[in-house]
Amino acid sequence: MSSQLVRGIFLALISAVIAFPVGHFFVEWAGWTIFCCGLGLQMLFHFRNFARLDQWSKAPVVDSSLEGEGAWDGIFGRLYRHEKDLRAQIASRDDQIARLFAAIQALTDGVVTLDLHNQIVYCNSTAETQLGLVLRTDRGQPIVNLVRQPEFVAYLDTGDFTRPLTLRSERGEDRVLSIYVLPYAGTRRLLQIKDVTQSDRLDSMRRDFVANVSHELRTPLTVLSGFLETLQEYDVEREERTRYLSMMAEQSSRMESIVQDLLTLSSIESAPPPENDPVDMVNLLDKLRRDAEGLSAGRHTIVVETDGQGDLSGSEPELVSAFGNLVANAVRYTPTGGTVRISWKASAKGAEFAVQDTGIGIDAKHIPRLTERFYRVDRGRSRDAGGTGLGLAIVKHSLNRHQAQLEIKSTLGVGSRFAVHFPANRVLGI
Ligand code: ADP
Repeated sequence: MSSQLVRGIFLALISAVIAFPVGHFFVEWAGWTIFCCGLGLQMLFHFRNFARLDQWSKAPVVDSSLEGEGAWDGIFGRLYRHEKDLRAQIASRDDQIARLFAAIQALTDGVVTLDLHNQIVYCNSTAETQLGLVLRTDRGQPIVNLVRQPEFVAYLDTGDFTRPLTLRSERGEDRVLSIYVLPYAGTRRLLQIKDVTQSDRLDSMRRDFVANVSHELRTPLTVLSGFLETLQEYDVEREERTRYLSMMAEQSSRMESIVQDLLTLSSIESAPPPENDPVDMVNLLDKLRRDAEGLSAGRHTIVVETDGQGDLSGSEPELVSAFGNLVANAVRYTPTGGTVRISWKASAKGAEFAVQDTGIGIDAKHIPRLTERFYRVDRGRSRDAGGTGLGLAIVKHSLNRHQAQLEIKSTLGVGSRFAVHFPANRVLGI
């Protein structure tokens, strides 16, 4: 039996013990009156505290001044502690939920949760940007009303989410999204959206590259096998035979150049950062001039302009190859009688190596693409000049590795200037 009940019975008995002698020995109604007053006072006391509890329960506040009378004080005390613990638990849970939401917001992947009718329950800001959603206004909307691309709608309909959906964004930014649907909590779905634009671009570059390499090698191979067949099957005159063999040698050396350039490119790409050896620019410029004169065979005027100040810090073979490529291009794309000007200028702020020619020039629309692998303005002309289309790609990689920038200026029919800008930390002796 609860102590409060015992206490109530005890107080009622006291009233009875006081009331009984009065009613028995004096006046009966006086005894009853005393008994009823005793019970009434007890009820009044309880109703007063009950009313206080009733009032508090309508708007429970954590208030340490919440006090009851007598036994009620214990009850109020326990309620106060219970309410306080509950509020602390709610606050800690709110805090955990807020941190969880902050973590979901910070994700670089988009997250959207859907109910069983594919209506949006929640999405993070990455998903808002990726799919063009606005959570504030779109909550509760079916997602297919907002992302209307047929492949997305069909994918959600199929219910087969074993493979992610690749979706090309139609929001004008040319982005590629990979969407995973993860069912959870029975009927709900979570969309995880990854931006795979970069890897998609790399994949397509890889595909283009393989196609380009195959194409580049197939042409000389076809020529070679054609001649071989002719030589095997027909009795060819000695003179003709010599001509065929020289053409075959030309094609095989062309293939060799392509393979060599591909190997150079791949070794630069996978190589550790270049050495920081001192590169003597006077020697290097002299070598470049001699190579240019050799290639030109007297068809051009070769000029070297330098005050002999400053050297470079870097990998000498890579810099020789990059500068050599620029000089060779200038000679190859400059008609007989033109001038190729090689210059070197260094100061405490940085240095510039440049090759200027009075050659055929390049239309402005081609300039941004010149350093792409196998990109050539005129395929036939490049091939005739012995080019592989990989030269400037190699140059760009080597220069990037030396934190240098390649600047190309050109006017069609007038000439081109390829300038390489090195930062101050690559310049020595100034
Ligand atoms: P290629 O082996 O064909 O010369 P590059 O990568 O070295 O390949 O150059 C890419 C293209 O840039 C060339 O095919 C050519 O069209 C153009 N180009 C490069 N240098 C010059 C230059 N000095 N003058 C005119 N065109 C140039």
